[in-house]
Amino acid sequence: MKWYGCAALCAPRRSIAPTETPMPERFSDRIQQNLSDRLRFYEDIGISTFYRDRAGVRPTEEPPTCPRVQEVAQRVDESDSLRREPKPAGTAPTIPARKFELRQADSGPSLFESSTKPENDTLLNIREDLGDCKRCRLHKTRHSIVFGDGNPKAQLVFVGEGPGADEDAQGLPFVGRAGKLLTQMIEAMGLQRKDVYICNVVKCRPPENRQPEKDEVAECSPFLFRQIDTIAPKVIVCLGSTAAQTILQTNRGISHFRGEWIEFRGRKLMATYHPAYLLRNPAAKAEVWKDLQKVMAELGLVLKRGKSS
Ligand code: SF4
Repeated sequence: MKWYGCAALCAPRRSIAPTETPMPERFSDRIQQNLSDRLRFYEDIGISTFYRDRAGVRPTEEPPTCPRVQEVAQRVDESDSLRREPKPAGTAPTIPARKFELRQADSGPSLFESSTKPENDTLLNIREDLGDCKRCRLHKTRHSIVFGDGNPKAQLVFVGEGPGADEDAQGLPFVGRAGKLLTQMIEAMGLQRKDVYICNVVKCRPPENRQPEKDEVAECSPFLFRQIDTIAPKVIVCLGSTAAQTILQTNRGISHFRGEWIEFRGRKLMATYHPAYLLRNPAAKAEVWKDLQKVMAELGLVLKRGKSS
């Protein structure tokens, strides 16, 4: 078996070719913690055997001698095997989206249809229109309006329910524990947060992190629809029931359509579990990972399996 392992951990134990750059003998505590979190995430979603080619480092036939280093080295290689590659013409599987046939929550026009859609809208315009918003009661307890963050021309938009305490404090979406998990999910797809756009149905934190009330969603969601319309992503991923039910205007539970492609105004929409739910139910991470792999296929993001022994 060829070992392509963790040069950082094993540098003192292995010979390094003259062209290689020696890695530090020890990572900082922060990097080690991030590495540990990443490895735990991959374990949770069931990824166990893959590794990467390291540019400039030739594989050696000799494995490291320390059993712990062997184990960690394999896992480090696994964590970096996801690569973004161009979609080969005609080869990437494309999952057809089914027409959205779920029962409508009411018989009137959807929130999207009824919202004002100015010509040549921009995220800046939308944020300015939102202003120091007091359209619903959530303004009374918020510290920040959490508008959204990321690439204004993203191919992929994640929509959550609403800000939590950390988001309210920082004014950014998904920066708490659930946000950290979402970041890991995005990176597992071979992307970075700056590649995607992240926002919520309501822009102000509901007290005690309760679910937003219908009237609060009704007041705030037109801004979400304008954001989606302006960004014009190829794929929308709804994180949790509130986001999916708001965009699709349905009362049906997410379990009825989670993991299925749904056509939404000419775009593909996938509903999956909210990261906060995954923190409470880690076993569901594998299901979410399956959903995200469908999204990756649609966007031409390739999960590159490493060479095994
Ligand atoms: S949740 Fe939305 S509608 Fe309500 S106050 Fe905040 S920004 Fe305005």
